[in-house]
Amino acid sequence: MLAVGHNVTKQVITRKKLEESEGRFRLLADASPILIWMLKPDGSYGYVNKTTLQFLNITQEQIAATGWEPYQHPDDLAAAKEALQKSIEARQPYEMEHRMLYKDGTYRWVLSHALPAFDASGEVFAYIGSSIDIDEAKRNRQALVTALEQIRLSKEAAELGTFDMDLEKGTMHWDDRCRTLFGISHHNQVSYEKDFAGGLHPDDRDRVLKIIDRLFVKTISNGDYDVEYRTVGAEDGVIRWVRAKGKVYFNEQDKPTRFIGSVIDITDKAMAIQQIEKLVEERTSELAEANERLLQLNKELKRSNANLEEFAHAASHDLKEPVRKIHFFTNRLREQLAARLNDTEEQSFNRIENATQRMGNLIDDLLLYSHVSQRPHETETVDLTEGVQRVLEDLDLDIEEKKAIITLGNLPSIKGYRRQLQQMFQNLISNALKYSKVDERPVIEINTQEVQQSGKTYYLISVKDNGIGFAPEYAQKIFQMFTRLHGKQEYSGTGVGLSIVKKVVENHNGFIEVESEPGIGSNFKVYLPKEQ
Ligand code: ADP
Repeated sequence: MLAVGHNVTKQVITRKKLEESEGRFRLLADASPILIWMLKPDGSYGYVNKTTLQFLNITQEQIAATGWEPYQHPDDLAAAKEALQKSIEARQPYEMEHRMLYKDGTYRWVLSHALPAFDASGEVFAYIGSSIDIDEAKRNRQALVTALEQIRLSKEAAELGTFDMDLEKGTMHWDDRCRTLFGISHHNQVSYEKDFAGGLHPDDRDRVLKIIDRLFVKTISNGDYDVEYRTVGAEDGVIRWVRAKGKVYFNEQDKPTRFIGSVIDITDKAMAIQQIEKLVEERTSELAEANERLLQLNKELKRSNANLEEFAHAASHDLKEPVRKIHFFTNRLREQLAARLNDTEEQSFNRIENATQRMGNLIDDLLLYSHVSQRPHETETVDLTEGVQRVLEDLDLDIEEKKAIITLGNLPSIKGYRRQLQQMFQNLISNALKYSKVDERPVIEINTQEVQQSGKTYYLISVKDNGIGFAPEYAQKIFQMFTRLHGKQEYSGTGVGLSIVKKVVENHNGFIEVESEPGIGSNFKVYLPKEQ
């Protein structure tokens, strides 16, 4: 037996030392709260410590099979790969914040440091890295950063003062603007008790302090603070209105740790509101007075209207007799003088006759108007077809003379005042005949249809002619008393007819409108409610 002995003491010692140091390293690594890992260039894990396995809740074998990519947040993966690549090229360590899949299925923010390791030939053989869970810190920081950012933004926009109360340290910080709002100029540490609570207006103090007390108890508030109050300037004694907004932050034990917020001067706004309220109050009482006066005037107007109508009625009634007498005696005189009258004298008699006739007509129309102004007490069911037929009978001479074609659709029966409705049709149809064209046969169509207007059903009764018409701008004015659009010589009339029509329609709770075009014709549309 031949034995060759090598002295390997050195190697063994070295190996043992290596094993020892590796064992120590693993112990240390496993005990560390930090995720420690070694990544091979192909993306597989060469080593991860126990903390990493626990973080991911998988075994060494599983992680060896999957590599690192599946544990990255999809949105961070590209950036992480790029950072790795860059650090190899630059042979520099890299540091990056990214999200990793936590064992409960959520992603947590970690901060990773890694260092590429190169072999003798200059090739990367591994990344040695560590990741630390910064999720909590990052979230808190994020909330704080957001709050501060919001304050900064709104401050720029609105001249906010800021306050920052550290409840753990028991300190309070006010910026200059905030100090001004509490009327203090000194730059020493401000205190909650003295400067804040002491600076509140006595009438607002209890309310505000109570709100803040409640704010610090997370279980009864969510920490959001928004309140308006007055301050009394510590040094200048000036009373200012402010609006304060802010938020209380809590730790895991629901203890308030930080109270950050802003204050803004709303004195002008508050004053303006007070002034507006005062003005509104004054105006309201003025308005009430004016309203009272208006009611009074309205009453007087009604009374004087009634008087006027009475007067018009009486006057026209009393005028009828003298006019009848003028007519009678002029006629008699004319007969007595008949043999002796020359042509001019005859003409003068004609003119007297005409004028008396016109006066008589006017008086009749005015009397009619004053009649329709007084609504009868009782309504009755009126068959409008019958009513129109009666009117057509009365007008038959005219109709015949003008060879008018009249079509009458089906008209409804409505509850109303028979004589007034008849008068209405009389005026509309006689106008349609009167204002017809000389060279064209008058065609008059009378129709009904049901229409909806402001949620109510109306009968729309139209009286349409093919007469001379008039310019549309007179469509309203035409219903006013004494309005006449066409020549006095060619067309007789008083200008009262359509005022009577309008009054009748209103007495039936309806309304009237007209469409017309010169040379084409007119369409008078009467709307009467279906249910009176
Ligand atoms: P009048 O006694 O003059 O006919 P109305 O009050 O009935 O008085 O009508 C007022 C004016 O409206 C008339 O003078 C006329 O110019 C115009 N008018 C009324 N009806 C018609 C119609 N159907 N076509 C054209 N113009 C009309």
